[in-house]
Amino acid sequence: MPVCELCDTCLFFNDKMPDMPAVAGFLKDKYCRGTFEVCARFQVYREFGREHVPDGLFPNESDILPGIVDGLRRRLKN
Ligand code: SF4
Repeated sequence: MPVCELCDTCLFFNDKMPDMPAVAGFLKDKYCRGTFEVCARFQVYREFGREHVPDGLFPNESDILPGIVDGLRRRLKN
């Protein structure tokens, strides 16, 4: 079974985010121990690096990913 390479330090995986959802266990099975490539946090990490992953971003928030990516591209271009 694939496991995300960020599990050791990821705030979500280690229950370090405020307001962890009731479905956190389900999301960990789905993303962290499954299709981590589509996790919103992992996608920011892959393109911009770990230090740019927003603390409060949840794995299933792909709907807000375009705005985060656009903002980071603009910010890091300057
Ligand atoms: S939340 Fe995303 S980045 Fe964090 S361990 Fe799970 S799959 Fe990896």
